[in-house]
Amino acid sequence: AYELAAKRVYVAGHRGMVGSAIVRRLQRENCTILTAPRDIDLREQQQVRGWFSHNTPDIVVIAAAKVGGILANDSFPAQFLYDNLMIVANVIEAAHCHGASKLLFLGSSCIYPRLAPQPIAENALLTGPLEPTNEAYAIAKIAGIKLCQAYRRQYGFDCISAMPTNLYGPGDNYDPASSHVLPALVRKAHEAKRGHAPAMEVWGSGTPTREFLHVDDLADACIFLLRNYTSAQPVNVGFGEEISIANLARLVCDIVGYTGRLVFDTRKPDGTPRKLMSSARLRALGWKPSIGLRDGIADSYAQFLDAGALQ
Ligand code: GDP
Repeated sequence: AYELAAKRVYVAGHRGMVGSAIVRRLQRENCTILTAPRDIDLREQQQVRGWFSHNTPDIVVIAAAKVGGILANDSFPAQFLYDNLMIVANVIEAAHCHGASKLLFLGSSCIYPRLAPQPIAENALLTGPLEPTNEAYAIAKIAGIKLCQAYRRQYGFDCISAMPTNLYGPGDNYDPASSHVLPALVRKAHEAKRGHAPAMEVWGSGTPTREFLHVDDLADACIFLLRNYTSAQPVNVGFGEEISIANLARLVCDIVGYTGRLVFDTRKPDGTPRKLMSSARLRALGWKPSIGLRDGIADSYAQFLDAGALQ
């Protein structure tokens, strides 16, 4: 196994939900965690090069990304494509030039074709058209996978890439305009309960299904992969179960304690009809998640309340 002890590990995107979870998990390892100051813009090549030349990490984790829910992705394709392409290109090149020995790139389940056979295995990549609502983001993430593979092939740089399913947990984005479905529903149910609203709005038909993984499980998988995975092939990190958006909304309402009706706004997009990943490759390596959906949402809701949001 690859040693983390005494290594200098740079987590790009440490202020985000994923990066902060990876930092928390790395604090249990005997390594030095490096983060870049707020004024370093990872889209700017000179800034990234300058930071790497002074800090020379051994290991790099790319958890930095411009992310958002279905509406944000659909509304700002230029930003999602440009920002994510620049981040991944700058960080991989700088890591290579400044002597890093391992790099983990985080992608997304939306890299797979819209109508990929379910559960989606890694070899579905580039076998069909993408879901239009998040095509720009997906193309940038596919470019990231291809960069990892190219740097491995041409330079022997040990770059691996992991594709997490939909994530949630502490530090999630609860802004209604840009959030993903799970934090959006938590906030909506909370506000509907507080306002004694008779009904709560859910976007789309409620029939699409999604898979959800707690970000602390993802962070644990990332550390497992840094230690145990050395391959050009991306590896899916899923929970292994899917749930319809309607049932997710019911589960969230149950946890929050909101008893009103659900109203489905079918003018909003459904996005891809089904998105369950096969995590067989990762299971075969010996890792599995440990945080169930109900417990994970209850934990997120407690943190949401603690954070004082909307109190
Ligand atoms: P996706 O997984 O890339 O499609 O992104 P999202 O997490 O944003 O959306 C997943 C599904 O949840 C889509 O079918 C949305 O229409 C549906 N959904 C229902 N209510 C909401 C909401 O309030 N916010 C968001 N972002 N999605 C919602």
